[in-house]
Amino acid sequence: MPQSPVRDYFHNIWQTVRTILIGMRISLKYCFAKTVTLQYPDVAPALQPRYRGFHYFEIEKCIACDLCAKACPVDCIYIEKTGPRKIDKSSGVAAGGAMTRYAIDYAKCMFCALCCDPCPTDCIHMGNLHDMSGYTRESMIVEFTELAKEGLQTPQPLWMTKDHLPEWAATRKREWIDFEHSNDKLSGDRDRRRLEMVKALEPSAPKKT
Ligand code: SF4
Ligand code: SF4
Repeated sequence: MPQSPVRDYFHNIWQTVRTILIGMRISLKYCFAKTVTLQYPDVAPALQPRYRGFHYFEIEKCIACDLCAKACPVDCIYIEKTGPRKIDKSSGVAAGGAMTRYAIDYAKCMFCALCCDPCPTDCIHMGNLHDMSGYTRESMIVEFTELAKEGLQTPQPLWMTKDHLPEWAATRKREWIDFEHSNDKLSGDRDRRRLEMVKALEPSAPKKT
């Protein structure tokens, strides 16, 4: 049956409006939703306890076994050592060859945490740092062995190296510097941990276990 041109005209208009409304349904819903914008970094981001951020690495317990690097699906963990390392069960600290490099390329990392589970000494963890940026791809490679020389387990975003920080950021920075995430035999002994971190960068004779 032939359609009337006028009827076709209004039908097309209706179809256009209807399909736009269908397409915009979700967008329109969010137009009237309560906003959740945070004034970062003045206000702390709401991270869940299970959040997988940039790693923190306890070099003093690492035995350089490469299991984390082998588990990494994108091959972004680089480990170099001068010889095998062994954990001393009484102190919970590893000794032997020197850790000459432990680095993660965050331009490739997908924060899957597959590197953490196979670690036999529980020394690589997903941390609570969500914020790191750089001007080059190379700057996204974090050299954890260099951080260990400064007594750090995790990188810090540039803005958090300033003296005056929002309260939440100052608290988080203090937690990193005091190793509050580490729950092992060195817990509470910040100076000893710092010493062991630096010792991991040099070869030493493993103690008998
Ligand atoms: S989180 Fe995943 S991608 Fe990143 S270093 Fe670990 S295993 Fe590799
Ligand atoms: S972080 Fe753990 S799994 Fe990776 S090399 Fe060190 S001890 Fe082995």
